Amino acid sequence: MTDEARVDWEAVIGIETHVELQTASKMFCGCPVSFGAPPNTTVCPVCLGLPGALPVPNEAAIEGILRIGAAFGCELVSYSEFHRKNYFYPDLPKNYQISQYDLPLCVNGSVEIETDESSSTIGITRVHMEEDTGKSLHVGEGGRIADADHSLLDFNRSGVPLVEIVSEPDIRSAAEARAYGSEIQRIVRSLGVSDARLEEGSMRFDANISVRRRGDEEFGTRTEVKNVNSLRSLQGAIAFEIERQVRVLEGGGSVVQETRHWNEATGVTASMRSKEESEDYRYFQEPDLVPLEVDDAWRERIVASLPELPSARRSRYRALGLDMINAGLLVDDAALGSLFDDAVAAGADPAATANRLTGEVVAYTRREGVGVSETALTADHLVELGTMVTEGDLSATAAKDVLAGVLAGEGMPRAVAEQRDLLQISDLGVIEAAVESVLAEHAEAVERMQGGDMKPVGFLVGQVMRATGGKADPKAVSELIRSRASSET
Ligand code: ADP
Ligand code: MG
Ligand code: ZN
Repeated sequence: MTDEARVDWEAVIGIETHVELQTASKMFCGCPVSFGAPPNTTVCPVCLGLPGALPVPNEAAIEGILRIGAAFGCELVSYSEFHRKNYFYPDLPKNYQISQYDLPLCVNGSVEIETDESSSTIGITRVHMEEDTGKSLHVGEGGRIADADHSLLDFNRSGVPLVEIVSEPDIRSAAEARAYGSEIQRIVRSLGVSDARLEEGSMRFDANISVRRRGDEEFGTRTEVKNVNSLRSLQGAIAFEIERQVRVLEGGGSVVQETRHWNEATGVTASMRSKEESEDYRYFQEPDLVPLEVDDAWRERIVASLPELPSARRSRYRALGLDMINAGLLVDDAALGSLFDDAVAAGADPAATANRLTGEVVAYTRREGVGVSETALTADHLVELGTMVTEGDLSATAAKDVLAGVLAGEGMPRAVAEQRDLLQISDLGVIEAAVESVLAEHAEAVERMQGGDMKPVGFLVGQVMRATGGKADPKAVSELIRSRASSET
């Protein structure tokens, strides 16, 4: 958006997020939930919508959605119903989707988000349960239905438990929308209910966007960009829509309420269809399912079993003195974070340990294409390594080599340091002797220092380091040389 537009217009954004739950079986049948199975191999009469097949709700999925709702601080309702949302599409064999309408399972929550510029609270209107559709594969040049030669249908995804998280229209910029999307992803992952992989479709966004003149109370007409499948696209599609709507309005036109499609390749949104209203879906209560009742005991058990949420972990790490970047990296990688927690609990220094983990360790795991839990590194290693550095047994540089050895499975840090001959000389007598002999060889430099010119110190330290094979503590050596120079004046 141009700076001028920014002054006059304010964006209003609400996001609907779909998350596929990784339960063992589908929402209303016993078929397995699996990604990447050969087409139409995980199907049965229920998820194919064959006549007479009856749905049975999956308790683990209900548990999953309640955990998500609880993580947003939602009210978990005691009485909830399933509805039929009726529409025709080839990937929907029943011609209706079992969903929830006016009685969702979770309502009135919120989530805190942070961008570089702002932090804000975004309301969560509702979290409801539904089932996923099958997948159409449009065979042809663009992969879109309009230019397809023919289309193929895969019903493996049909009936996979799908949770929809609907936000209030509280988001005010494309950057905030991105921060919102990634926080939702983090929360869902921390709960262990979904891997929330945008690139695999287990998490997807619909973004509702409108603009209004700054100061206006009333919302403008919104458009909805459907099926956005990356955080970058979410930000890009919203930024594009805001600019487009402002241009339309400034040109005296009006925004048409419609569904639009984001084209990743061209970076524009294009009209798909006029927006449907809820009346169009002829919602009615699902006659094949009884209402859902969530009793107090279940609700309490869910709330009590929530793990530490990403925002809480982030604040805890910040309070330990970690910077935003390190705290964020440890929150985003659960295995890295728990290794950090274990090491700190066992006495490791938080800042130094975080730097090692997010620096050398992450570099190593990326290079090797493994997770940190697949390396040999343990909390004990981190504690011993930290102690060796603070006690002067290892230089900062040598510590990196030792860590590389530990990651490669060479053993405990002390053993690796000995094996690789990296231990600093801690025997002061040995260092003093090396300093003595270097000073004796460079009488001229000693004289200069005695005359008050300290420039040769660096050179002399270098000589001592060479004489000791790099294993003297350079700080100690420098101090020794300086004190020798001043004691002889
Ligand atoms: P629908 O079911 O038709 O998609 P909802 O009323 O459930 O509509 O709202 C869907 C999303 O649109 C919500 O996230 C909501 O916050 C958002 N929203 C509603 N009105 C606006 C608006 N004028 N501008 C931007 N977002 C909006
Ligand atoms: Mg919608
Ligand atoms: Zn099935």
